[in-house]
Amino acid sequence: MPTEANCPFCHPKDRVLKENDQARVILSNPRKVPGHFLVIPKRHVEKPWDLQPEELQGIFELIFFIEQRIIGKLGDGVDIKQNYRPFMKQGRLKVDHAHFHVYPRSWEDYLFQMSEKYETDLFVDLDDLERKEIEKLLK
Ligand SMILES: [Zn+2]
Repeated sequence: MPTEANCPFCHPKDRVLKENDQARVILSNPRKVPGHFLVIPKRHVEKPWDLQPEELQGIFELIFFIEQRIIGKLGDGVDIKQNYRPFMKQGRLKVDHAHFHVYPRSWEDYLFQMSEKYETDLFVDLDDLERKEIEKLLK
C-alpha cells in the first residue's frame, strides 16, 4: 500500500525545478517528450478532488507559469492532463499522489505521430440516448 513514507512525489529530492507554498514542478522521468513536466501538490493526496482550493490555485499557478515559459520554445501549444487510475498498481508509470502532466504540443508532433493519429477513428457522433443517460450522472 503506497504511503507518504515511500511516495516518490512526497520526496522529490533534487528534482524540484520550481515551487510555491502549495506545489512543486519536476520533470517526468520517464517522459513522453522533452519538456514533459509534472506539477505535484506538496501534500500527499491520492484523489484529485481531495485537493483544497488553495492547493489547486498553487498547482495552476505553476501550470500556467510552465505554459508561458515553454510555448514558442518547446512547442506551439500545451496539453495538461490529470489521470486518476486506481485500477493500476503504483510503479514507474503510475504514482498514487495526485499530479498534473504538462507537455508541449505542436502540429502533427511526435505524440500525434506515435499515438493520436490513430485516435481520430475513436470519434463518433453523440446520440440522444447516450447523451441523456450520461447527463443523468451530473444531476
Ligand atoms: Zn506522496
